[in-house]
Amino acid sequence: MTELEDIRPATVRFAPSPTGRIHIGNARTALFNWLFAKQHHGEFILRFDDTDLARSKTEHAEAILADLQWLGIAPDTVAWQSKRFDAYAGAAERLKAAGLLYPCFESGEELERRRKLRLARRLPPIYGREALKLSAEERQALEAEGRKPHWRFLLPNYADSPFETRRTEVHWDDVVRGPQTVDLASMSDPVLIREDGTYLYTLPSVVDDIEMAVSHIIRGDDHVTNTGAQIALFRALGSEAPAFGHHNLLTSVTGEGLSKRSNALSIGSLRDDGYEPMAINSLAVLIGTSESVAAMASMEALLEHFKPDFASKSAAKFDPAELTNLNRALVHELAYETVSDRLSELGIAGDAAEAFWLTVRKNVDFVKEAVRWWTIVEQGPDSAETLEDEDIDFVREAFSLLPPEPWDGETWSTWTAAVKAATGRKGRALFMPLRVALTGLRSGPELADLLPLIGRARTLDRQP
Ligand code: GLU
Repeated sequence: MTELEDIRPATVRFAPSPTGRIHIGNARTALFNWLFAKQHHGEFILRFDDTDLARSKTEHAEAILADLQWLGIAPDTVAWQSKRFDAYAGAAERLKAAGLLYPCFESGEELERRRKLRLARRLPPIYGREALKLSAEERQALEAEGRKPHWRFLLPNYADSPFETRRTEVHWDDVVRGPQTVDLASMSDPVLIREDGTYLYTLPSVVDDIEMAVSHIIRGDDHVTNTGAQIALFRALGSEAPAFGHHNLLTSVTGEGLSKRSNALSIGSLRDDGYEPMAINSLAVLIGTSESVAAMASMEALLEHFKPDFASKSAAKFDPAELTNLNRALVHELAYETVSDRLSELGIAGDAAEAFWLTVRKNVDFVKEAVRWWTIVEQGPDSAETLEDEDIDFVREAFSLLPPEPWDGETWSTWTAAVKAATGRKGRALFMPLRVALTGLRSGPELADLLPLIGRARTLDRQP
């Protein structure tokens, strides 16, 4: 890229079909687009690929929008393909008039039989354009029988006769993968319109990309093989193709593809589990790249690490344990102002809330886990962890030495110095029984910080 191209504003789109909730792999695509748009002072379009009216649902679209917003992605424009059928019909008519969209009547079984025949003859198993040979009468006869055509786009992979294809290279400089080449003679003419008149994804997508002046199509590398035909379709519709970028996909830990239908790794369920949006964003973007995976506290920080071509070529495994590590790292640093509303919803509010958060944040993986500590501070130990018999008298004696209020950050050391002098205990033998008596747990936040939060009265309530 020249410097000039670098600063030219980009228009990108994220184009999910609203057939379910988006998962972390979809978030990767959305984020690659979002970050790319930010780096190019560009525009981000959320386009719902909802031409499949049976499977697309408004509630899924709304949930996708909400999920993106929660992640920190605010689309500049939201578009719906279901509102643009006229534009697709117009484009289809233009292609038909130019002889570039032709009707085919083969059934699935027929196509499969031909495919096998070609394979047996060691020919590439691509469509042989048999339907192009039908005369007008033959077509009419088929239609009279009640057969409905599906429509294929005639790829420009021949010189004189469409039945004599020749190597036709299409090149693009993929913003993620670098220079790519496909041979249009190696693929079948794609079906653009099904028998029932519904559109496959290709034509609406290209029509919209032209009309919305999309400059960069950034998507998963499962679409690489579609790109050659799409570039040809852009040209057939009188437009130059935009730039393309294909990033590697994420799989589950066991290597399966992620699916919108399985809700388990959806953004919605990760949100319900308590993950921070930036933990998800950090992993969704940095996994499977040349950058190391680390928790980025903000989109701005993530932006500094993002380069579209840093993605590797092979799929990356998404491991929820890694997400928890990132979440922990973020939560440990979260400022009180950032979480105060959420804490308040969890019932953690009041004068002590800030000091409380700063005390416990390093001991939780998720913000919601602070509730347990709040209950311990406010109400006392919740666990079955009990004092050893030989410690009970020691703790009773220690409690009798509690300094008077006001309590502050020094109270713990004042108190334990007195306890040490009186009992001769020190180190773990001294503090562990006190920790167990105060919190019911053997580990947790610094007792020096917890003690003033608990206060003298509530401490005395914990005396064995
Ligand atoms: N709806 C398509 C998908 O989710 C969009 C692909 C594209 O970005 O072109 O796979």
